[in-house]
Amino acid sequence: MSTLNSAQEAVDTVANEAIEAALQQTFAVGGAIINNATGEVIAAMHNNVLMPFPGSGTPYFLPHDPTAHGERQLVDWYYDNVAPLNLPPPDQLTIVTTLDPCAMCAGSLLTAGFNVAVSAIDDYAGINYNSQFTFPSLPPKIRLQAQATWGYYGVAAPVSRAYQGSTTAPVFGGQYIDSPAYFLCSSIFSASVNTVREASNNSGLPPDQLQNPANLPATSKVRQALTALSPFALTVQSANPRDPGAELAPPLLKTAQQGKVFNSVALIDPFGNLLACLAGAEDKSPIRTAFMETTRGYALMRWTLMNDPDPAVRAEAGQYLTHPKYGAFVFLYAPDPTTPQAVMTFGAYGSTMEGPVPQSYPSNLQYVLLPGNTTAQALSTLAQNLPPFYTQSVQVAPAQVLSQDLINAVKNGV
Ligand SMILES: [Zn+2]
Repeated sequence: MSTLNSAQEAVDTVANEAIEAALQQTFAVGGAIINNATGEVIAAMHNNVLMPFPGSGTPYFLPHDPTAHGERQLVDWYYDNVAPLNLPPPDQLTIVTTLDPCAMCAGSLLTAGFNVAVSAIDDYAGINYNSQFTFPSLPPKIRLQAQATWGYYGVAAPVSRAYQGSTTAPVFGGQYIDSPAYFLCSSIFSASVNTVREASNNSGLPPDQLQNPANLPATSKVRQALTALSPFALTVQSANPRDPGAELAPPLLKTAQQGKVFNSVALIDPFGNLLACLAGAEDKSPIRTAFMETTRGYALMRWTLMNDPDPAVRAEAGQYLTHPKYGAFVFLYAPDPTTPQAVMTFGAYGSTMEGPVPQSYPSNLQYVLLPGNTTAQALSTLAQNLPPFYTQSVQVAPAQVLSQDLINAVKNGV
């Protein structure tokens, strides 16, 4: 890979990734991991939220992975490759990005401890949405970490934006880029954002047109894919998808035992079926939490089935598999609101919904238990301080499950 000598060259490099993303019709954002000491580009990636199925001439269904933002992918790429490539630790590397990271990516980057350098601002979903470098969405300690390790490159005239942030931590800290590079990063994202959000948010039949996957025969490819993702798939049905009872305790508890961190997250469909229940993979990467695994696993399975070579399988997947916004996510343990993983989790939930969630009580973001050192109020405060996209469009609202039977069954099993 190439070696860079300036912020301008770094932003030109990631802007090329954003152009590739635009041509793929996904969010036009790009990023790269750069070695602070050498300027070497270690990896470069772009957004893959919408992606054509490899090898298929006709892309049938593009919503691929709501968490496949450039920065989040780079963090997981780093942990997959740090040992085999003998990479330096994250605090000696910078992730340079065309656009201010969203809540999910900001939480991912801060969990891993990368330095960060940014070109354009996103005043709707970006973690620096107010352009003040105050990071009101982050927990206080994490705010200090971001202020010490992140920078927003200056922009020369005529845009004339002062450099903001640490001049020493990110690669090419304190440097300026030219106005055309800044405009490219900003405008190419703006041109993509609404169509990609709508394609993601509207990708699925409303519940009154959906069919119940519990009725699928054992030979169904959709049923087999669900079971392959999670052995508890379609083994449990709750009377109300937003009010699961004690029936959900065994899958949550048994699944949680499989992870390095004792936690699991279930996805329930509008019929009350348990579709997937996964543990985290924090042994592979600290950002692969139970929620990330569940939402990604389900999305990737759905994308694969919706692009199956057999048109009957594609049709069945469309008829039986819900968009998660019509179902509910149930966490065994809510994320700890003092951690960057909590910001990442709520951000990834926002990216999974990618727009308004049908408003019915209670929320479709539920947890059974809180981690020991926190309160429901602290968790709600974190959600209410997120950037405008999450509070105004998605309306992230974590709530404890209503069923005392479920809470007691889990407490007895923990
Ligand atoms: Zn992001």
